[in-house]
Amino acid sequence: MPSYFRSSVDAMTGYIPGEQPKPGTPIIKLNTNENPYPPSPNAIAVLRQLDPEWLRRYPDPYANDFRQATSEALNIPKDWIMVGNGSDDILNVIVRACAEPGRSVVYPMPTYVLYRTLVEMQVADRVEIPYSENYEFPMDELIAAQGAITFVASPNSPSGHAIALSNLRHLASKLSGVLVIDEAYVDFAEETALALVHEFENVLILRTLSKGYSLAGLRLGFAIAQPQLLSGLFKIKDSYNIDAIATLVGTAAMQDQDYKNECAEKVKRSRKTLALDLRQLGWKVWDSQTNFLLTQPSSNAEKIYLALKECGILLRYFKQSRLDDKLRITVGTDEQNRRLIKALNNVL
Ligand SMILES: *Cc1c(COP(=O)(O)O)cnc(C)c1O
Repeated sequence: MPSYFRSSVDAMTGYIPGEQPKPGTPIIKLNTNENPYPPSPNAIAVLRQLDPEWLRRYPDPYANDFRQATSEALNIPKDWIMVGNGSDDILNVIVRACAEPGRSVVYPMPTYVLYRTLVEMQVADRVEIPYSENYEFPMDELIAAQGAITFVASPNSPSGHAIALSNLRHLASKLSGVLVIDEAYVDFAEETALALVHEFENVLILRTLSKGYSLAGLRLGFAIAQPQLLSGLFKIKDSYNIDAIATLVGTAAMQDQDYKNECAEKVKRSRKTLALDLRQLGWKVWDSQTNFLLTQPSSNAEKIYLALKECGILLRYFKQSRLDDKLRITVGTDEQNRRLIKALNNVL
């Protein structure tokens, strides 16, 4: 049968998301880095009281209420913010706006798998620079590659490590293309690179409400950069990429920084306990500035992943080189983490 698709689409594998069982399924879900705590009560109240008139009309194409709340929460000008249907939407817009054959996309590996998927879709040149075993930052290689886009997830997934601000600053100063710093996990980290958007016109910081704000199902993310850099992206994005509900609920969540920070503190405390418990089992656990831990079990990772799945506990197993002997574990509540350790003691 002839293919209906472009040859690049035929050649793609496509992004394989983590398993998503329905809410209410009796399962401990530690595979896709959701926050174990509910969203801000203020955000839930907005959802419950929603006036249906918001649904009858088209939404604000720029989500200005959300931009205003974000501007106040992060102390950046409102027109330095672009809102997306999750940060995945913005990653897609960036790749479509900046990459094509002859204009390369560069990133250190292993990292967020979507970067590769998007580049394959766009048929742009792709330069993947391997991290060393202990995740030293490959500065010279990243500079030498001179990408039209350079993606750096900081903190990174699946390793959990953060890149020092001084390294990101140096990299930004040496690149002529756009440096995208994906801060999906910044709410659990020690520092942010946000200051760099003031220093460099080629830096774009990417944030999401999916992890820190417990709103992965809402689909809301945003970019922060100087207006000149955002202007090209605004041309590309779908006009109504953020729906009315996401704008209203997300605005309330953004206004409740205290609640988000309290939950992040709880996650960070649990992360410490869980890392200790796993090390006590003889596992290697990488230091993490995120809401997950990269671990190397003392025996076969895939078997442990499958055995835990049988007991109703989902972890993330990546069947790819360098990661197929490891498991990525989202930090749950203390109770969920205790049940994980108990199940591991049975399984091992
Ligand atoms: C979760 C994640 C995202 C995607 O966030 P959404 O806003 O849910 O699309 C982006 N980058 C990294 C590194 C992530 O882990």
